[in-house]
Amino acid sequence: MSRTYLIAGNWKMNGSLAANAELTEGLVEGARELGIGSRPDQMEMLVCPPSVYLESIGRTLAGSPVHLGAQNLSDQHRAGAYTGEVYGGMLTELGCRYVIVGHSERRSLYCENDSIVARKFGAALAAGLRPILCVGETLAEREHGSTEAVLARQLHSVVASNGIAAFANAVVAYEPVWAIGTGRTATPEQAQAAHEFLRGQLATADAKIASSTRILYGGSMKADNAESLLACGDVDGGLIGGASLKAAEFLAICAAAQQAPQS
Ligand code: PEP
Repeated sequence: MSRTYLIAGNWKMNGSLAANAELTEGLVEGARELGIGSRPDQMEMLVCPPSVYLESIGRTLAGSPVHLGAQNLSDQHRAGAYTGEVYGGMLTELGCRYVIVGHSERRSLYCENDSIVARKFGAALAAGLRPILCVGETLAEREHGSTEAVLARQLHSVVASNGIAAFANAVVAYEPVWAIGTGRTATPEQAQAAHEFLRGQLATADAKIASSTRILYGGSMKADNAESLLACGDVDGGLIGGASLKAAEFLAICAAAQQAPQS
């Protein structure tokens, strides 16, 4: 089963109207030069800006090969007195195709536990969005030898509440917390081991879904380490933070995905 690489940029809480215009125009131009979109089965390029900028960025991206996604959504509400919340359907209306759920920053800084993450995953699908489910262990958990237990817990809580069939429209991102924004990247061997484990866990529920689900690596992926990470058989792309804020750097990662052997 061949899986289309996905290179997704998580802009986090960065940007301004002026900076976004420069970055987005650079990405659109670069994507066209690379021929992204001419072979949509080979790789997909996605940016996830802060929600307040989705509409204006969506306008710049319209008709381009760069897809739009969001970073967060409400876990259960569609409308009403929920100050600050954003319903998934509002994101779909702005042209979003994906939404990130379970990012470690939301888990640790905003107390999002496994049940909230599972609800957000379901809310995304119900709104017509593909969730990008982030899972990953902290350094202490890795050193304690509990990496696999943590990954299994985070993944199975979503499978238990949404069903394995839901993963046909979802993406998983393995993001070791100790590698996010630290400049410290998992080695290709560490990444492959975790990805293989995650795919194996999905396969315990459904082998076909497991072989078609894209599993991205996230954690200080950059132009200079993308090639070796993307060469791993179970690494189907990247979720990129810091390096997604520089057009040239992000495009170089996309170019590495274009060259990578298709898994
Ligand atoms: C992320 O936050 O999803 C991430 C991978 O960040 P960075 O690339 O900056 O480590």
